[in-house]
Amino acid sequence: MDSAQIIVVGGGAAGMMAAGQAARQGAHVLLLEKMERLGKKIAISGKGRCNLTNEAIDLIKHYPGNGRFLHSVLREFDNVELRRFFAEHGVATKAERGGRVFPVSDDAEVVVKAMEQFLRQSGVQIELKCPVEQVLTHEGKICGVHTARGRKAAAAVIVCTGGASYPGTGSTGDGYRFARELGHQVVTPRPSLVPLRTAETWVSELQGLSLRNVEASLWCGGRKLASEFGEMLFTHFGVSGPIILTLSRVAGDALQQGEQVALHIDLKPALTAEQVDLRLQRDFQQFSNKQFKNSLNDLLPQSLIPVVVRLSGINPEQVVHQITREERKRLVKLVKELTLAVVGTLPLATAIVTAGGVEVKEIDPKTMASRRIQGLYWAGEVVDVDGVTGGYNLQAAFAMGYRAGRAAARQVVAAV
Ligand SMILES: Cc1cc2nc3c(=O)[nH]c(=O)nc-3n(C[C@H](O)[C@H](O)[C@H](O)COP(=O)(O)OP(=O)(O)OC[C@H]3O[C@@H](n4cnc5c(N)ncnc54)[C@H](O)[C@@H]3O)c2cc1C
Repeated sequence: MDSAQIIVVGGGAAGMMAAGQAARQGAHVLLLEKMERLGKKIAISGKGRCNLTNEAIDLIKHYPGNGRFLHSVLREFDNVELRRFFAEHGVATKAERGGRVFPVSDDAEVVVKAMEQFLRQSGVQIELKCPVEQVLTHEGKICGVHTARGRKAAAAVIVCTGGASYPGTGSTGDGYRFARELGHQVVTPRPSLVPLRTAETWVSELQGLSLRNVEASLWCGGRKLASEFGEMLFTHFGVSGPIILTLSRVAGDALQQGEQVALHIDLKPALTAEQVDLRLQRDFQQFSNKQFKNSLNDLLPQSLIPVVVRLSGINPEQVVHQITREERKRLVKLVKELTLAVVGTLPLATAIVTAGGVEVKEIDPKTMASRRIQGLYWAGEVVDVDGVTGGYNLQAAFAMGYRAGRAAARQVVAAV
C-alpha cells in the first residue's frame, strides 16, 4: 500500500496550493487528481485569461456566501500575498477595470504551469487519473483514502475537490459525498454566478445585445432584494453578463423559496424619471414629424428600439407630435424600469461557482481542519463559501489551500 504523510484530493487551485505549501513545510505529500491533467478549471477561468484575484481593499464583503469565515485565511494570504506568490513563480500580473487582476500574458495556462512548477520544486508526488473514491478513518482519525488504484495511507487528508459546476473540468461534487459519509453537514449545492431565464420570449430578439452602465434590480413582491450597476447581456433564454451573474445567487435563492422574482432594468440610471421625460420631450420636438418607431435612435441602442416600441403599446407608425402625455409617461417607465419575470437560473453544471457545500461551522477557520474528524481538512469551492465575479473565488480557493496545507503539515511534522 502506498503511503504519504498528507494526501491532497484534487489538483485545482486549492489543492495545488495546499500540496505545495504542505511540502514546503517538510511534509511528504501525495496529490491525487482524477483528471489527466492538473488545474483544468483554472485553465478556462476568466475566459482563458484567469482573473486570479482582485485589488479590492476589503475582500471579505465580496463573498455573499460566508465571507466572514474567510477572515483569518485572507488575513494571512490576501490579494497582495497572492500577487507576490505568483510574481515569485514567474507570473507577473496586472489590474484592469474593477480591480480585476490577470496575468500580464493574458493566458490562464501560465498560472497552471507556475503551480505545476511550484509542486515539482516543493517535492510533491503527483498521481493523475487517480480518482479518490472514499476518505478512510479509523477510530475518528484519518488513516488514508481509497482510490481506483487501491488504498493509500496518510495521517492527514485535505479535500479540495471543488464544487459541482463545469463537471467536464473534474469537479463533479465528489467532496460533498465524502463530507456526508464523514458525518459533515452539506449546505445544498446550488448555482451561483449563473445566467437567468426569463418568461419573456422577446429577449431572444435581443440575443447578443450588451448594455453598459445600466442598473438591474431584483424585486420580490414590493421588496427590492438587490441591485447592481454595470454591464449585462441579453441571451436567447434570458439575461447574463457581470451584473446578472452577481444577482443570480439572490434570484436563485428566492426562486427556490417559491417566490416570484422580477428583474427591473433601469436603462438610464444617471437620469431621474423626470429627466428622462424632459429628454424625451426634447427628442420628440426634434423629430416631431417622424414616426414614433424612428424617434428613439438617440436614446436607445438600435436593436432595443423595436422591443421598447412594442412594449410601450404606442402605434409605431404614429407621428411623434401626436404622442400623448400618457403614452410618453409609459415610455419613461419602460426606460427606467424595463421589467422581466425571472423564472429560473441555468443549471448548476453551467454556473461559474457553486454556492453551498461543507458547513463552515464544522471547519476551524484558522486551520481549515474538520471539527469532526482528526486529520481531515477542507479547502476551496467544496466549502460553503462563494464570492462574486472579479477574481474572488480563485483568491478564496488559493487562500484556503495555503492555510490548510500549512496547518496539515504542522500536524504531521509535529507528530514525527
Ligand atoms: C468557466 C469558469 C470561469 C471562471 N473564472 C473565474 C475567474 O476568472 N476568477 C475567479 O476567481 N474564479 C473563476 N471561476 C471559479 C474558480 O475557477 C473556482 O472557484 C476555483 O477553480 C475553485 O478551485 P478549487 O480548487 O476549489 O476547485 P477546482 O478548481 O474545481 O478543482 C477541483 C479539482 O479536484 C479534482 N477532483 C474532484 N473530485 C476528485 C476525486 N474524487 N478524486 C481526485 N480528484 C478529484 C477535479 O478534477 C479538479 O481538478 C470560474 C469558474 C468557471 C467554471
